[in-house]
Amino acid sequence: MIVADQKPFEQIKGFVEDYEKILVVGCGTCVTVCLSGGDAEAKLLTSGLNIAFKREGKNKIILEDTVQRQCDEEFVLPILDRVKQEEIDAVITLACGVGVNFLADRLGNIPVFPGVDTTFYGAAVEQGMWAEMCAGCGNCITQYTGGICPIARCSKHLFNGPCGGAENGKCEVDPENIDCVWTLIYKRMKALGRLQDMQNIIPMKDWRTAADGGVRRTVREHIFRLDYKKQQQERK
Ligand code: SF4
Ligand code: SF4
Repeated sequence: MIVADQKPFEQIKGFVEDYEKILVVGCGTCVTVCLSGGDAEAKLLTSGLNIAFKREGKNKIILEDTVQRQCDEEFVLPILDRVKQEEIDAVITLACGVGVNFLADRLGNIPVFPGVDTTFYGAAVEQGMWAEMCAGCGNCITQYTGGICPIARCSKHLFNGPCGGAENGKCEVDPENIDCVWTLIYKRMKALGRLQDMQNIIPMKDWRTAADGGVRRTVREHIFRLDYKKQQQERK
């Protein structure tokens, strides 16, 4: 899942000081699970903004809505229609950065502001705690490392670790909170009976499959809708 943290309230409020009718949009997937941008957070933010602006004597209209996913056209269409029909001046989205971009691409001259800071792809490792697990490199190499990612989980992204900073299984970058991933990989490979594989040097990576190779896209030919662009044109 994509993990995000809500931006400071004052920062979000500052984004919309100059607008009268504002729509706060939550997202029902990743940011709901990590408690930063779902329906509950959208309602809380809307209520907070209403109170804060009223206290300042400003009569703004702050509305809220939540859709299942802000990264999928079919879920976002009702928001686009609502913005148009209700003459919304600005949108605050509590989705990850994907949702911000997806709405901004579709909302013409209506400003879209981010309500959260998107941080990483991670998993819930304990109740209320999420940790980074993948960096979306586009060419997974965890077959060499027992399924544990040295890109996302090593502070230096080392392919052949550990570095000299590992001590007692902890990473020198933050020994209190970060395990040295190469200790984790060693333990995992040992449990799998594959320690001898760690003698092999992991080959250099072609980073063109990661963000370094430019903007990425994926097409599934069997479901790619040929009339998608036409539908987009018709909406404009
Ligand atoms: S190797 Fe790449 S795709 Fe695999 S978990 Fe790590 S960052 Fe993600
Ligand atoms: S101590 Fe381990 S996790 Fe930290 S940077 Fe070095 S190899 Fe990576």
